[in-house]
Amino acid sequence: MNEHNGSKFAHITKAHPCFNEKMHDKVGRAHVPIAPKCNIFCNFCTRDLNNEEIRPGVASCVMKPDDAIAHIDDITSEGPISVVGVAGPGDSLANEETFEFFKKLAKAHPDLIKCMSTNGLLLPKYADELAELGVNSVTVTINAVDPEIAKDIYSFIKYDGKVIKGIEAVKILIKNQLEGVQKAAENGIVVKVNTVLIPGVNDEHIVEIAKEVKSRGAALMNVLPLIPLGKMKDLSRPDCAMMEKVRDEVEEIIPVFRACTQCRADAYGIPGKKGHDHHLGMAPQSHY
Ligand code: SF4
Ligand code: SF4
Ligand code: SF4
Repeated sequence: MNEHNGSKFAHITKAHPCFNEKMHDKVGRAHVPIAPKCNIFCNFCTRDLNNEEIRPGVASCVMKPDDAIAHIDDITSEGPISVVGVAGPGDSLANEETFEFFKKLAKAHPDLIKCMSTNGLLLPKYADELAELGVNSVTVTINAVDPEIAKDIYSFIKYDGKVIKGIEAVKILIKNQLEGVQKAAENGIVVKVNTVLIPGVNDEHIVEIAKEVKSRGAALMNVLPLIPLGKMKDLSRPDCAMMEKVRDEVEEIIPVFRACTQCRADAYGIPGKKGHDHHLGMAPQSHY
């Protein structure tokens, strides 16, 4: 990491709940659900619009960028928010609204940290533009770097106007994810890699992912337990012992973020803090 990137890293991690465990329950983040479309099919994914479930891929509604800016205006006047992220409910880069939103956010709230999560398919294409828009941190979800393992995790990708399946699809996805991590990091964006631990599928492979993404410039990894849904609904959720073992192995290679409890695509406030962690569509606190 050069000196310039080092100081950016320090700036981001000081105030970002998803990059600094010590700050996780102290500073606020806001997700704006402006990106409903996705360009790949992860076998564990079920996106949904509802008010109840607390997990990624869920929001109570999809907002237009202008409404999302108005929402940020409101919530920043109510409490401490340091980070604004686009985390779906689909893939941020598959929705042009993400770019419009960040442009408008930079004007309306230049001091907020701009963050985004993506599956990485389009990251090589857009890494330069994201840096120009002032995006500070990106989370890329990479669940395998070996196509033989990845083919059991993803059903297809939509790329260059075509639907591509099987080994061909996952080879493109992995190549783009790794190039995207590298290009984003070279642009001074702080990159975290999220990996979903899928028992019996990638649990013994995550160390390989760690080595590869570290060599591409990722700063941090977050290993998350599978929430068995969609085509993977019959798999089991990893137990604590498996999670700890894999996180410890990964930590030998790259710092591991352990405080994540997988929040919604429309969450806002201080993560996990009673009375301070909200999402759109939630009944007001006075209703409890
Ligand atoms: Fe679902 Fe995200 Fe995978 Fe798209 S990238 S299929 S939204 S989990
Ligand atoms: Fe955290 Fe990801 Fe949201 Fe950024 S986009 S604030 S890293 S969950
Ligand atoms: Fe970020 Fe996870 Fe914390 Fe949500 S629970 S703010 S996604 S680290």
